[in-house]
Amino acid sequence: MGYEKNDILTVKIEDMSNDGEGIGKADGYTLFVKDAVIGDTVSCRITKAKKNYAYARLERILEPSLVRVEPRCKFHRQCGGCQIQAMDYRAQLAYKQNKVRNNLIRIGGFEAAYAEKIMEPIVGMEDCFHYRNKAQFPIGVDKQGNPAAGFYAGRTHDIIANTDCALGVEENKEILECILAYMKKYHVPAYQEKTGEGLVRHVLIRKGFDSGEIMVCLVLNEDREKKRDFLPEQDRLVGRLKEIRGMTSVSVSINTEQTNVIMGKEVYVIWGKRGITDTIHILETENFTRTGRGISFLISPLSFYQVNPVQTEKLYSLVSEYAGLGGTETVWDVYCGIGTISLFLAGAAKQVYGVEAVPQAVEDARENAARNGIGNVEFFVGKAEEVLPEKYEKEGVYAEVIVVDPPRKGCDAKVIAAMLQMRPERIVYVSCDSATLARDVRVLCDGGYEVSRVRGVDQFCHTVHVECVVLMSRVEK
Ligand code: SAH
Repeated sequence: MGYEKNDILTVKIEDMSNDGEGIGKADGYTLFVKDAVIGDTVSCRITKAKKNYAYARLERILEPSLVRVEPRCKFHRQCGGCQIQAMDYRAQLAYKQNKVRNNLIRIGGFEAAYAEKIMEPIVGMEDCFHYRNKAQFPIGVDKQGNPAAGFYAGRTHDIIANTDCALGVEENKEILECILAYMKKYHVPAYQEKTGEGLVRHVLIRKGFDSGEIMVCLVLNEDREKKRDFLPEQDRLVGRLKEIRGMTSVSVSINTEQTNVIMGKEVYVIWGKRGITDTIHILETENFTRTGRGISFLISPLSFYQVNPVQTEKLYSLVSEYAGLGGTETVWDVYCGIGTISLFLAGAAKQVYGVEAVPQAVEDARENAARNGIGNVEFFVGKAEEVLPEKYEKEGVYAEVIVVDPPRKGCDAKVIAAMLQMRPERIVYVSCDSATLARDVRVLCDGGYEVSRVRGVDQFCHTVHVECVVLMSRVEK
């Protein structure tokens, strides 16, 4: 029998989907209930019914799960950024471990027992709030017509004002309030997506947790440079922002396209330095204590930088352990960003080559090598799927170890093919999406590799996302 939209059902939540919805069954019919937690018994209302399954909205919790906790953020259901904030942190970790395992089995085609054997326990975090070093706040207007900063209400582009996200740094609030007050006072209009009018679209804030340095980048809808300044009364805004403790860089980026992409292609510094610096410490991997060594990085607004610095130190230290370098190896770090992993590994390698598509990130990477006095690294700008095959075909480059750390969509098929031709002894795959990871690992396994270690690192507490590092070794000698 089927159900219809607006039907109300009582259901026990027995599992959770990859997107964090609670899954329950009613007469063999599957329900996906947003905001329900595994173990809850809930009453829910169907929002979209299909033949064998339906999506539903949580109406009332009849019996809370033992792993249900009081969410810290009052907006958590509306925002959708923290899909599993209502779940105890230990249960979140178990959910993520399970998600990686399921993807390896279902998408990667590995036997359950094998998946169990290669998986090491996920690395969690002690203090799992305020961990993000970066935030991008959309700017709009509230119901009274005042400028507002916050987040988009789940799946829409309506802005709900909140300057105090529980995952971000405390300075976000002060910085946003300063920008909003300036906008109000000088009648600087917020961008409106529907009409394409207005000036201020987004505010990017990034903080170096080790250095305490902060940068702010305002994304603008118009290039007012011809009118001397990018912003009206620009000096007033800069004057206030630079008083905030740690502020080292204020910049603007121009984005006049009607698009979901936040940043424009160029950044103009209007006060201070090009970005912030930060240090990532190298840890012992048995207990994640500091070795006393670290690498310092310059990060500019358009460059990628891992968002959770506490967990990044653990992640990179595991990458380094998995890479198993002895000082003689040639390493390729593909999708290298500002060269973080390249420089982390350089001390134990003969030579490291990095490949990265964003030119500003490569500029940062080269400067970062120089800052740390590291000479055995070289960086190439370009798409990995073009650079790697070309370097192999024209120059016959090789590697003992290849590290890849692609964006969520995973490695391009041409990158995988080039890696298989290069035949490194080991591949270390760092991934922020275990589904595309499992897909790519399957292809590499069919091409002569085997997976020996997999470990999740929780970089994104309270969200359904999980970072993973995988070690693969060549089977045929
Ligand atoms: N390893 C780095 C960056 C990982 S994020 C770190 O840990 O900081 C992925 C990086 O891949 C980003 O810097 C992004 O700009 C880059 N990128 C995305 N698509 C790419 C492509 N097709 N070729 C090369 N780099 C790409």
